[in-house]
Amino acid sequence: MVVPLIVILALLFLVFMVYASYSISSGVYVKAFCKKHTTDKVVSLTFDDGPHSDYTPKVLDILAEWKVEATFFCVGKNVESYPAIVERMQEEGHLVGNHSYSHENNFPLLGVEKMVDELRKTDDLISSLTGMPVHFFRPPFGITNPWVRDAVAKFNYNVIGWSVRSYDTISDDVDAVYDRVVKKITPGAVILLHDRLPFAPELLSRLLQHLSDEGYKVMRVDKLFNVFY
Ligand SMILES: [Zn+2]
Repeated sequence: MVVPLIVILALLFLVFMVYASYSISSGVYVKAFCKKHTTDKVVSLTFDDGPHSDYTPKVLDILAEWKVEATFFCVGKNVESYPAIVERMQEEGHLVGNHSYSHENNFPLLGVEKMVDELRKTDDLISSLTGMPVHFFRPPFGITNPWVRDAVAKFNYNVIGWSVRSYDTISDDVDAVYDRVVKKITPGAVILLHDRLPFAPELLSRLLQHLSDEGYKVMRVDKLFNVFY
């Protein structure tokens, strides 16, 4: 059977569109900071989906112990539930960014207007606690599309992706997650973690020990990429 060229082209286009939406580093819809081009041993640790009532404070304790500053992409409804944890993030020198209000599975399909509402609501919640405007955003699931692009364009955001995905949300094997992350760490890496997971504190402790042993310095994403506004 001969497959018509138009079908092949349509399939290739489809594959490209899926890649463009699911790969935040593709930059097709939104220019995102995913990795710093550098030979310096610097990385950023980023935590998504919190704050969580139990695990986020433990993550903060460990960061404080190591005197390390991280970046938290918080979900608005969780900010509403645990405002004191967000205040603590700010007080302890961490950067707090926006990761939508609902983080519902259908977020990428909400349309521009509802996305803008979610982002604005979450910005307002975070700002009221930190006293700072929010200039950093990470799209839920890292998915970008024309709606996300148009919603983001209404804000003064630096969009942050990642270069090291831990897949910590789909595994409960902390050893496997740790191994996967350390293998992928290179200078300038942005590491994606989730502070809502029970093993987040243990994973963080082990990663900080590894980074220290390897001579890496950990910095907030604004400092890594030198973007302040
Ligand atoms: Zn998320």
